[in-house]
Amino acid sequence: MMSDRVDHIGIAVNDVVEVARFYSEALGVEVSEPEFEPTEGVKIAFLPTSSGLVELLEPVNEASAIRKFLDNRGEGMHHICFEVLDIEAAMRQVVAFGAQLIDEKPRHGRGGRKLAFVHPKSAHGVLIELLELGKE
Ligand code: ZN
Repeated sequence: MMSDRVDHIGIAVNDVVEVARFYSEALGVEVSEPEFEPTEGVKIAFLPTSSGLVELLEPVNEASAIRKFLDNRGEGMHHICFEVLDIEAAMRQVVAFGAQLIDEKPRHGRGGRKLAFVHPKSAHGVLIELLELGKE
């Protein structure tokens, strides 16, 4: 087994403050203060649930992948992230299956953790992130 844990779900939103207010006040879910993530060109607010994070992602520039997603599909689930023990092994398994990766090599995310994306064309319409287990 490559993964038994969803690390987070990313949701593309137009206004992170407004959407954070919905989760906080309508659903009673704890939401962090939005923070700027320059590498992805987004503002992010985190919903730290005991079964994994939910990330609210608002684009802050036109180059952001989240901006393109919102323009094409509107607000909604952007990606689901599975935690894996070994990112290179996970990527090899995806390729061996015949599915398409977006990343040829792992990229580095928050905290230096290695990650790679599986193309939604190969994953039944869902963008899948594979995230190597952190060492914290
Ligand atoms: Zn993610």
